[in-house]
Amino acid sequence: MKLDYFPRLGLIACASFFLLQTAFNLVLGCTGRWLVRRARRQPPRWAARQLFLFRILPFALALALTGAYCLPGFLRWEPKVREGAASWFLLAAVAGMLWLVIPFLRAARAQWQTWRLLRLAGREGNPIRVSCESQPLWLLSLRTPLLALAGGWRPRLLISYSVLQALPDEELQAALRHEAAHRRYHDNLKRFCLLLLPPAWPGRRNAQALEQEWARQSEWAADDAACFGEIEFQGKNHQTALALASALVRIAKLQRGSALHGAELPSQLCVSLTGDLNALCERVERLLDDPQIHSQPRHDTMLAAILGAAVMTLISSAFFYLPLLYSLHRALEALVH
Ligand SMILES: [Zn+2]
Repeated sequence: MKLDYFPRLGLIACASFFLLQTAFNLVLGCTGRWLVRRARRQPPRWAARQLFLFRILPFALALALTGAYCLPGFLRWEPKVREGAASWFLLAAVAGMLWLVIPFLRAARAQWQTWRLLRLAGREGNPIRVSCESQPLWLLSLRTPLLALAGGWRPRLLISYSVLQALPDEELQAALRHEAAHRRYHDNLKRFCLLLLPPAWPGRRNAQALEQEWARQSEWAADDAACFGEIEFQGKNHQTALALASALVRIAKLQRGSALHGAELPSQLCVSLTGDLNALCERVERLLDDPQIHSQPRHDTMLAAILGAAVMTLISSAFFYLPLLYSLHRALEALVH
C-alpha cells in the first residue's frame, strides 16, 4: 500500500510504540511475580513506589524511545514522497493507535464520572471542616455510605451523611489522616496514570498482579502514615490504629447493608476508605497487631544494579546518538518495506 509522507510518519510512530511496548511488556510479564516478591520485602510506602514505577515503565520507555529514536530518524532521512508499506506494519500501526486511544477513552470516562460526582457535591453546599487541621469534607446526600477521595488532580474528600453520623469523632479523625496520606502521596493521580496505560499484552496477569499489589501497599502506606505520623522511628499511635480499624469495620458494615462496595464505586478515581473489601480483614489485623516502629527501606542490591545498568545503557546510547539513530532508521526502513 502506497502512503504519503505525513500519514507514514503517524503510522511509523504508532507501530514503533506498539512494538516497543510489546517487547517491554514481555519483559514485565517474565519478571512481574519476582518484582512483586521483592517489593513485598520493603516497607509499604517504598513497595508502592517501586510497584508503580515498574508498572508504568514499559509505557514510559516505549513512548520515550519512539520520541527519541524512531521519529527523529524518519524526519531526518525519510524522502518526502509516496512510498509503499508492508501490511504487517499497517497492522502494528493500527494496534498502536488502539493502544493509545482505548486507555485515553477509559481515563476520560473515569474523569467525567468523577467530575459529575464532584459537581453533585458542590451543588449540595459548602464543604465542612471537622477540625482546623483536617481537609474540608464535601457532604453528599447519597443513600449509599461513602467516605472517599475523588479526583485525580486535586482530589476532594467526599462523605455521605450516613457515614458522618455513624463515625465517632476519634474514628473520623483517624479516617481523615488516612485520606490525607493518600492525597500527600498523590495516589489518585497515580490511579489516573494507570488508567492511561495500554493493555498489558503480553503478560497481562503479571501486570494485574503488580497493580493489585500496588493498591494493597498504598492502602497499607496510608494506614501507616495515619498511625505512625511522618517522623521516622516514631512509635505507633495505638489509639489511632484502633480508631482507624474500628472506622473501617463500621463503614464496611454499612456498605455491606447497602448496594455499594469496592467494585461499584461511582468512578475508578473515587477511592473508598475501605478500599477492596476482600483485603479489609488483613488491613484490620495489621492495624491491631503490628507493634513495630516505622521501618526503613531495605537496600536491594540486585534491583539497584538492574536499574543502574538500564540507566547507564540509556546514557551511553546518547553519546552514539547519530550513528545509532541512522542504524535504527535503516532497520526500520527495511522492516516497513
Ligand atoms: Zn485508602
